Amino acid sequence: MTTIQLKAPCKVNYRLDVLRRRPDGYHDLRMLMQRVDLCDTITLSLTAEPGVNVTCGSEEVPDGPGNIAWRAAELLLQRSDGLCGIDISIDKQIPVAAGLGGGSSDAATVLMGVNELLGLGLTEQELMAIGVTLGADVPFFIFKKSAIAEGIGELFTPLDAVPLVWFVLVNPRVPVSTAWVYQSLQLTNQGTISIVPNSYGTIHDLCGVLANDLEKVTIARYPVIREIKERLLHGGALGALMSGSGPTVFGLFEHEAAAKACAEAIAAESGWFSVAARSL
Ligand code: ATP
Repeated sequence: MTTIQLKAPCKVNYRLDVLRRRPDGYHDLRMLMQRVDLCDTITLSLTAEPGVNVTCGSEEVPDGPGNIAWRAAELLLQRSDGLCGIDISIDKQIPVAAGLGGGSSDAATVLMGVNELLGLGLTEQELMAIGVTLGADVPFFIFKKSAIAEGIGELFTPLDAVPLVWFVLVNPRVPVSTAWVYQSLQLTNQGTISIVPNSYGTIHDLCGVLANDLEKVTIARYPVIREIKERLLHGGALGALMSGSGPTVFGLFEHEAAAKACAEAIAAESGWFSVAARSL
């Protein structure tokens, strides 16, 4: 087999607590992470020509070495016999710099796919260790289960139970730099760390845990995020929260029909990116 096509899903954070700033400049986090079925499609092919080639066809995402998927493939090619190369084609559906982890998911999917194509036999643990050198969210997409993530996001406790839910994902089409958000964050919750359960029976249990320490930073600069939260709740969402460093906001729905109706109404009246998608 020399060509494979793979789906790279996005993620949302039901919860994002920033616990402390570390001496190395990163932050220790505690996140409740969920994969969502809004996916990029990645086609990987073995080529006779050595090296990596990436085409993405998106104005916001570079082809070539600037693409995180390129760097993922290059790291695995260095572990091969070097006799072949990898061609990567990415059909981007996940908004970029959006708080949805799209680049990280592309990188994770390339690591798993190239491992298979080249028959390298790397374990999930080994791929996660390579992945964290590319980006803090990459290991989560290799772990492939809803989880509490700690450290910089690379230490996982899988959730014992989590219900299938529907999301409406709304992005106001302004890119937000994750680095800027963390640099702007003033930590205020020192010493007060609440408990986050690792089992959720119903969507209402999930709504009870929703919180994101980065919201106040991003909303201060982009008040449209508050407007989107209100619009989602008005449209029937049982809860609404900014994902990651934003600016994408997700609304939680129990039923597909209600989620799709809300997503379509918001898209029609706002010009924002607005889609319904289920949890994975
Ligand atoms: P998040 O905002 O959750 O981190 P993201 O992957 O969409 O998710 P960033 O990690 O902020 O966003 O990365 C966006 C930056 O990374 C953009 O400057 C973009 O050009 C660059 N980039 C490189 N490769 C990719 C890729 N495969 N997909 C998306 N962005 C990429």
